[in-house]
Amino acid sequence: MTDSAAHLTAVESFFKDHPDIKYISPSSAEFGTAREVWNGSRRDHPLAIVQPQSPADVTAVIKFAKSSGIPFTLRSGGHNLEGLSVVQDALLIDLRAFNSVTVSEDRNSATVGGGILQGELVNELWDQGLATPTGTIPTVGYIGWASYGGYGPFSSHWGLGVDQIIGATVVNPDGEIIKADETILEGIRGAGGLFGVIIDLTIKVYPLTAILSGPIIFDSSDIVKSYTNFNTAYHNLLETEGLPPQLTLQRVTFQSPRGLAFAALFCWSGTDLEEGKQWSEKIAALGPAKMNMVKPTTIPEWLGGAGAHVPNKVYGSSWSMNLSTITTAVAEAIARNLSILPNDPGAMFSLHQLRGPSAAPQEHGSVYGPREPHYMLEILAYGGTPEKQAESEAWGKQMADEVEKAAAESMLPTAYVSLYGSTHAGSTARWVDKVYGEKAGVLRDIKARFDPENVFKLTVPLLE
Ligand SMILES: Cc1cc2nc3c(=O)[nH]c(=O)nc-3n(C[C@H](O)[C@H](O)[C@H](O)COP(=O)(O)OP(=O)(O)OC[C@H]3O[C@@H](n4cnc5c(N)ncnc54)[C@H](O)[C@@H]3O)c2cc1C
Repeated sequence: MTDSAAHLTAVESFFKDHPDIKYISPSSAEFGTAREVWNGSRRDHPLAIVQPQSPADVTAVIKFAKSSGIPFTLRSGGHNLEGLSVVQDALLIDLRAFNSVTVSEDRNSATVGGGILQGELVNELWDQGLATPTGTIPTVGYIGWASYGGYGPFSSHWGLGVDQIIGATVVNPDGEIIKADETILEGIRGAGGLFGVIIDLTIKVYPLTAILSGPIIFDSSDIVKSYTNFNTAYHNLLETEGLPPQLTLQRVTFQSPRGLAFAALFCWSGTDLEEGKQWSEKIAALGPAKMNMVKPTTIPEWLGGAGAHVPNKVYGSSWSMNLSTITTAVAEAIARNLSILPNDPGAMFSLHQLRGPSAAPQEHGSVYGPREPHYMLEILAYGGTPEKQAESEAWGKQMADEVEKAAAESMLPTAYVSLYGSTHAGSTARWVDKVYGEKAGVLRDIKARFDPENVFKLTVPLLE
């Protein structure tokens, strides 16, 4: 009997004895849909799927998996860019039932379930007059986003996702429910599920009842010219006037129904909306803009609009790097490759900036590597169909190579774990060193202390 056949026999027997735990066997009709993740090119076939509904279910499953030597993965939103929440012959633990939100009495924090999606979280908080940093795609898992870094439209104002984490409940490698101490929290802030199943996170929340946001779309008929001109003007603005922390801009380029579009996604989370409007006009004038769609809106609407532009399923991979600045040579290399962006909704490019107080050392310990002021490049080389994958990946690789050459002086040593794929690093050890930089040693120490047998060996970032 092969290992996987023996494991499946053990799994089937365990769930027969635990009929209350929601189990999806590989022969069930639901299995095909339940195993799907955002990156459709991940074809690994999990051993079976379990969907725990309570912390007690999770403890039973982890104790069983550990004692039987059954490898497992953890999944919430399924948006890991390589599809790493599904691994061949590993039991898939799907945590999406954990989607509660409990706001503290003082309204400064909220405790959120370990499988909650970003869209679910922002809707619940908004109904209570509150907000917290998230990304813009509602179907991305919040824990996966926040605990590995978490860039988004509030990064400049309130910091990254990792900066919001102030507490956690975890099921540890022995299957016990524990409150994370400061050392585990330091590890969770940057390395997420490496030490256990996160049942819930306690995060900072902020009062907010309106935002000003929307895309500012620039003339994209000559994208090389408009991208490089915008870049120069933006840097002049940064140097002469600076930008307020309440404003976060994400530069994106994608194929819209009307063709190639270069836009700045503008988000103002300050209370003075009039001041925000003036900033939107200032940013639009840098282009100049063809369309300024910035308006008073809500975070749920903002995420709903952004999510509509991203396909539910794609095929391919991503490249990423962190740069201290976008020089003219780098902007030209980016823009040249944007001008040949494949005509496919899965091929996208985006530039996040971490600046101001958010790029300074934070009050809480964290293994998150890239803290200095920087630009994080997302080269999303995906096709909307399997047939388009090769074309998109060839484009992504060329773009990454050309930008890397142009960025010799501005390239930072670390990259973002969620975007810089393990496959591009060559080995998982090199991946960990690359994404955690000088924090890699601290991370390995915390792991050795809390999971010495590497029970959580398949959770990102795959520490050997
Ligand atoms: C379309 C798209 C847009 C994105 N936009 C942004 C962005 O704007 N900013 C940004 O910073 N990132 C962005 N990302 C990256 C994204 O934040 C990460 O890929 C994130 O880890 C995905 O989380 P998930 O829960 O959806 O993924 P999953 O694949 O479900 O989980 C990823 C890993 O997280 C761990 N994990 C998840 N939940 C738990 C838990 N409860 N306990 C322990 N471990 C857990 C596991 O190791 C799991 O393998 C984007 C990704 C996509 C695909």
